Amino acid sequence: PFFKEYLPYEVDKPVELLAKLNANENPYGPSPMAVDAFQKYAPKGNRYGWKEMFELVDKIAELEGVKTETIMMGPGSSDLLEKTAMVFFQNGGNIVSADPAYMSLIKVAEATGATWKPIKLKDDWSHDLPAMEAAIDADTKLVYICNPNNPTGSMTDHEELVDFCSRVSEKVPIFVDEAYLGFLDDAAKKSMVSLINEGKNVMIARTFSKIQGMAGLRVGYMVAQPETLAIIQKITRGGMGISLPSVHAAMASMDDIEFSNKTRKLNSECREYVYSVLDGMGYSYVPSSTSFIIFPIEMEGKAFLEKMTAEGVGVRAFNIMDKNWCRVSMGTMEEMKLFGAALQKVLA
Ligand code: PLP
Repeated sequence: PFFKEYLPYEVDKPVELLAKLNANENPYGPSPMAVDAFQKYAPKGNRYGWKEMFELVDKIAELEGVKTETIMMGPGSSDLLEKTAMVFFQNGGNIVSADPAYMSLIKVAEATGATWKPIKLKDDWSHDLPAMEAAIDADTKLVYICNPNNPTGSMTDHEELVDFCSRVSEKVPIFVDEAYLGFLDDAAKKSMVSLINEGKNVMIARTFSKIQGMAGLRVGYMVAQPETLAIIQKITRGGMGISLPSVHAAMASMDDIEFSNKTRKLNSECREYVYSVLDGMGYSYVPSSTSFIIFPIEMEGKAFLEKMTAEGVGVRAFNIMDKNWCRVSMGTMEEMKLFGAALQKVLA
């Protein structure tokens, strides 16, 4: 692999941060409608939420334009990523993905016995799809694509990805993680979900944690062919991990279009602000399609994290291709100003 992550500072030492910009959380959420629904249904917490889960699945199926049997719920998308890795790699094999990529599925695959075949992102930070295709061999059990990608925030061309998924899924199943898709203005058009109706062997993961601001309420889902879901359902019932109030919160959140529109707008204003700070400092950055920005820094990652934490600002640090990088999540504008000031002080 070409990249490694420095441990977030608070892992060693819990600290109270003025600006928590290290976990790509939505600073505005959950939607007030989701909070009301969660509170309203907390007293029903003595009951299992199966009926309500089916209602949520119906609602998601309608939104995505797919059949309900292609949807599987999970307590956040992490659970679905991890369980997929466990099922697909129980007899070994290899996984092909970009490098750097979001590591959750890949790490569980490796722990289960898989070999990771990392394929360097292209110079424009998009997936090198021809190189990924060339890396597929008889032992490849899954291709993982995170689009937009974490930790780079970059997008891969839509038409190229549709073509790749359509063709390559005939050989190997493809898992597309769309956690940050909701931050795009034209998210629905950029999703790979429509390939499900064409019968393609793709799996698409989505989460309520990001644009919906429900990271702590734990709701995610996956869209895939029913035969594929049946394999994963051998080891998990998925929705069993989601609390009844969270199911109601998710349904309410889906109705609160105003909230997600507001998040998208404020997120993009904060990105512009961070770009202007970095431009002013003469720093480069990877243009972001997400709720975080990554940029190279001239300081060793651990020292940088310590200094930023001392300023009350939590960020993440990576080493990518022998360079140090900071990844900062978009918080409120006030938090981004704290970040800007801390960055100028620390890197001065
Ligand atoms: N996928 C990506 C790319 C992420 O960045 C994250 C969280 O940061 C997740 C999945 C998992 O999120 P959750 O389990 O909250 O749905």
